[in-house]
Amino acid sequence: MKIRVRVIIESDDGVGEMVQKITQLERGQLRPEELGLTLAEAKGLLEGLQRTVVERQIAEYSKQQSSCPLCSKLRSHEGARAIIYRTLFGKIELSSPRLFHCLCQPHPTRSFSPLAELLAERTSPELLYLEAKFASLVSYGLSMKLFEEALPIGAEINASTIRNHILAVAEKLERELGDEQVFFIEGCERDWEELPRPEMPLTVGIDGGYVDSCEQKGKKDGRFEVIIGKSVTAEGESKCFGLVNSYDTKPKRRVFEALKSQGMQMNQQITFLSDGGDTVRELQLYLNPQAEHLLDWFHVSMRLTVMNQMAKGLGPEASESRAGALKQLESIKWYLWHGNVFKALRQIDHLETDLEDEVITGASSEKLRVTLQEFQTYIENNQRWIPNYGELWRAGETISTAFANRPWIKC
Ligand SMILES: [Zn+2]
Repeated sequence: MKIRVRVIIESDDGVGEMVQKITQLERGQLRPEELGLTLAEAKGLLEGLQRTVVERQIAEYSKQQSSCPLCSKLRSHEGARAIIYRTLFGKIELSSPRLFHCLCQPHPTRSFSPLAELLAERTSPELLYLEAKFASLVSYGLSMKLFEEALPIGAEINASTIRNHILAVAEKLERELGDEQVFFIEGCERDWEELPRPEMPLTVGIDGGYVDSCEQKGKKDGRFEVIIGKSVTAEGESKCFGLVNSYDTKPKRRVFEALKSQGMQMNQQITFLSDGGDTVRELQLYLNPQAEHLLDWFHVSMRLTVMNQMAKGLGPEASESRAGALKQLESIKWYLWHGNVFKALRQIDHLETDLEDEVITGASSEKLRVTLQEFQTYIENNQRWIPNYGELWRAGETISTAFANRPWIKC
């Protein structure tokens, strides 16, 4: 059996009709791998169809451009040159004519190339979109392999093309990003009341992690903090953002735009969960008047888990110290879980004194003392953001950024 695929092109006035052959498929005895289209056939079909559609569109465009739109006089040609346009379904060579401007109007130049100007980017927006989408999920090399496997343009794309395109897209997005501000809250209470009923609350997890240079000479040499976050709607739709605070000139604007793209309104409830670092805490302020800022329970409990390990490491010969430290740590955790910072800090003080006075001793006691001291500062600095986690948790609220798929960050 032979299957011929042809395209019928009808002109707008319905007068002309053109049939263009695209491909021919042949099938014999039915075999599973030949039921329907194979990948190679699909690629060939798309490529052929794309070429035909583009050729017709270009022919029509060239016809429109051939005469002056004001006086309808034919424009004279000054030759043509080939331009390459890349689309998802193939690389297409197009003839771009250079035309003389009509003399009925003054023009800054003598001639122009309408097609080359229209397709200034030489890459279709859809191809750029897909390149950016894949490259945000996997490496440039893997994106390239995916294109190669599935799309007619595949053979024409390599990893560095994708990289260059992403860079150009990123630079374009940067240019479109508004100015940085300290304060992003718009309007006043009266305006917010008039806004449409907002969507359910948004939950935003923000986290910072330090990246060190492998050729580091000093502690701060080559060190920078990467801040990443994820905003999740009540329906579970999420959006991620990331930035390097010391490098980015518009960090707050970036976060604000990410939230705005999820439909954030000034009358919408929004909960920020963060690791409690200074830069991260500063970043989430003044973005929304209804914002609630919480210290992420994940970070509190991780620090307590580390101290628990140290307490267990006090050694078998210090079993009393070990039991005492573990009991006190449990009590600190319990107070923090219930948002009782005052008592938690008192308990921390107590354990610290026990360690200093050597009431609690053992192999890792000095390490535990230092870590506990850091934890004390951490809790003191973040006490404003510590809620009654237990109560929120029972009410079904998010108290931890464990939802933000945290394996991609190490803190
Ligand atoms: Zn004219």
